[in-house]
Amino acid sequence: MSLSSVAPSVSTDTTVAYHHQPSHGIIPAELIDKVKNYYEHKGHTHIADDLSRQTHQQGHTRAQRTIRQASRDVPSLLPDGQTVKVYSARNTERLRLKLMRSSSTVSSDKSVNEAYDGSKATYDFLKKRYNWRSVDNHKMPLYSTVHYDRNYCNAFWDGDEMVYGDGDGKFFNRFTKSIDVAGHEMGHGVTQERCGIAVSRDGKPTGVDYEKEAGGINEGLSDILGIQIKQNALGLTSAQSDWLIGSEIIAEYKGKKYALRSMANPGTGFVDHPYLGTDSQVWRYSDYLTRAQTDEVDPHDSSGIVNKAFWHASMKLGGNSWEKAGRVYFETMPLIKFDETFGGIADKTIATAQKLFGQGSAEEAAIIESWKIVEVKL
Ligand SMILES: [Zn+2]
Repeated sequence: MSLSSVAPSVSTDTTVAYHHQPSHGIIPAELIDKVKNYYEHKGHTHIADDLSRQTHQQGHTRAQRTIRQASRDVPSLLPDGQTVKVYSARNTERLRLKLMRSSSTVSSDKSVNEAYDGSKATYDFLKKRYNWRSVDNHKMPLYSTVHYDRNYCNAFWDGDEMVYGDGDGKFFNRFTKSIDVAGHEMGHGVTQERCGIAVSRDGKPTGVDYEKEAGGINEGLSDILGIQIKQNALGLTSAQSDWLIGSEIIAEYKGKKYALRSMANPGTGFVDHPYLGTDSQVWRYSDYLTRAQTDEVDPHDSSGIVNKAFWHASMKLGGNSWEKAGRVYFETMPLIKFDETFGGIADKTIATAQKLFGQGSAEEAAIIESWKIVEVKL
């Protein structure tokens, strides 16, 4: 099956395509709450208030987007379809407030350049490795807004653009600093365009849900794209990669480095951080089931199951992650349902590996083994 043959036929009107997609930050609200508690305890109420507002921010962003889109200019695409623009919110909540960069001319602002590079790396990766043009395969321009809000401790894809906070400076650095964060968030856009097609009534993509097992799959697919984008940009094979997501986002504390997540060893992205505690990702399906009995499991935690499976298959198969394991996952995306389960995606990736590489192939065996490692029943 060629890559282009599985491209969904979707409207170029992104306001329609993204209508039901809420914004998903790179880090869970629970972690922001820990930082908020620290500032509250220290009596820095203005920072605590900023952080408190962020966890209630989703609805606001949606409303703002509607206003902006009503007066939105029609972007002019470059001949190759590549348009990357970076704006500054100047520490307000206004997206696309001031255009900072739209060409290869470097800015004096680090965040601006990192956001530009993140979008470009994502575009280049998708085009070169999967022949997928921009987030929507329709050369959608990639816009970013940096310096969003004050002390904003997250980055998100709002349905048609990237938004990055500066962090609080003590626990979190600027969110443009890790290229895989850009890749992860724009990966949510790819998931929205490429998944849920098989089961939607009108043949238009519905994406993947953001709760239960589907939530972990949604987050996992974004980490999987994010890490490939990082590996491609840095020229690293699977064996050479650190398999860390957001390794520049949590600020160094007393000389110790932290990452948001580890795909090789979920639950060890950060360990015993004096204020943030320990990464709560799970990677065994049995652990997910245990936790799900008492609590709704955050998608950023249950994604460890998919992340670990992808890491295992990539390591087993060697070379670059996008050549085999990555290709299997990318080709599987149109088969993934809105309310997908871990068992479902496991079966589908195995079927795709068979289709692409043959029954009894090393690729099929590696994918099967990867799901056994994380205890997903086949
Ligand atoms: Zn995410």
